[in-house]
Amino acid sequence: MTTSQQVKQDEMQVVKDYVNEVYETVKKRNPNESEFHQAVKEIFDSLVPVFAKHPKYMDNGILERISEPERIITFRVPWVDDQGKVRVNRGFRVQFNSSIGPYKGGIRFHPSVNASIIKFLGFEQIFKNSLTGQPIGGGKGGSDFDPKGKSDGEIMRFTQSFMTELCKYIGPDIDVPAGDIGVGAREIGFMFGQYKRIRGGYEAGVLTGKGLEYGGSLTRTEATGYGTVYFVEEMLKDKGLSFEGSTVVISGSGNVAIYAIEKATQLGAKVVACSDSNGYIYDKDGINLETVKKLKEVERKRIQEYVKEHPQAEYYEGCSGIWSIPCDIALPCATQNEIDDVSAQILVTNGVKAVGEGANMPSTLEAIDVFLNNHILFGPAKAANAGGVAVSALEMAQNSMRLSWTFEEVDAKLHEIMTNIYRNSVKAAEEYGHPGNLVVGANIAGFIKVADAMMAQGII
Ligand code: GLU
Repeated sequence: MTTSQQVKQDEMQVVKDYVNEVYETVKKRNPNESEFHQAVKEIFDSLVPVFAKHPKYMDNGILERISEPERIITFRVPWVDDQGKVRVNRGFRVQFNSSIGPYKGGIRFHPSVNASIIKFLGFEQIFKNSLTGQPIGGGKGGSDFDPKGKSDGEIMRFTQSFMTELCKYIGPDIDVPAGDIGVGAREIGFMFGQYKRIRGGYEAGVLTGKGLEYGGSLTRTEATGYGTVYFVEEMLKDKGLSFEGSTVVISGSGNVAIYAIEKATQLGAKVVACSDSNGYIYDKDGINLETVKKLKEVERKRIQEYVKEHPQAEYYEGCSGIWSIPCDIALPCATQNEIDDVSAQILVTNGVKAVGEGANMPSTLEAIDVFLNNHILFGPAKAANAGGVAVSALEMAQNSMRLSWTFEEVDAKLHEIMTNIYRNSVKAAEEYGHPGNLVVGANIAGFIKVADAMMAQGII
């Protein structure tokens, strides 16, 4: 080794030690928050080459500041169920980073919600939102409320109670929530109504994912799923591949999965499986999307019911088995950590060519290593699922202008945004010495814009 190589290696070690030290502080300050630690670790590891090239980010404590939320709000959400019993849930809003725009991110209603889940989601949102190229900061919220099996009346009372507290902290130029798991058009409608009633004004831009009648944007419903497929299409194109004629497995059957199935099918793929939190269906003839939409969007039933209408299809209990179905393309669109290293290895052994993350953090760190080490095309969540929040920002723009664009206009903008995210991630990966690694590329591209904005605004 030459002297200059040795010096470079020593410098790199200094950076690695620094990043590790900040990571240990984050762990100590946020004990028992494994999902948050996981999201932080993934970003931090990617940023080592950035700090080596630009020590100014270390000098300005960007890492220390970016991993500490600007504000965390935790609150009681009391409500009365249909039996007249008083119930209490916990509400959260994490306002993580506002250096490039108002806090922006969804609300999740799911029994697994806790500070760790909301913080991991909020942290990821900072970089995802930056990648879209739009002026939106990072935030996330939610509650451990379980919407499963609740009546419309219970959902409305809970949601109104949730907004009665949340409304004190949000606004079109402050913090703009939207949907996530368990929060769709119905819940956004109830939240919007309650916000308007308390605040006494019509602030259309306070929430996104609204109904079309009251300020929503065309294509918002489809955006996350379509965007994921557009992103994967770009990855495939670069390798001379496409969705046409390929077999696809998509986990989940919520908003992201449904519209990923729709777009993949439109592009000529056969989607053979989807799932919910109880189990998955395998339909070798290709999933009938109308049935899934009816079951999930209209009747709010379990995916198991699919086989009643399509007896050639098979239903299996449990979620991880879906990854043992041989496929060319896998799109995890259900929830965090749904693919571990074992499932990743099975996908690889069965010949998967591309994986695109529609859900937030669906692959464990070990699973990501399996994909990258085997040179599988891998589209990380922050990049691949940014279409949802990107169209939310387009909804905010339309609300500000008091006009609405057509489906085709919004879809074309979404397509362009996803292509740009892909190109910027590829470019950053190359520039920082990790060609083809979109995890590193997306993390770096998302980070630099936020870091530069933080530097410009002083130590705050
Ligand atoms: N919950 C979605 C996400 O994970 C959308 C957020 C939004 O539209 O604000 O990005």
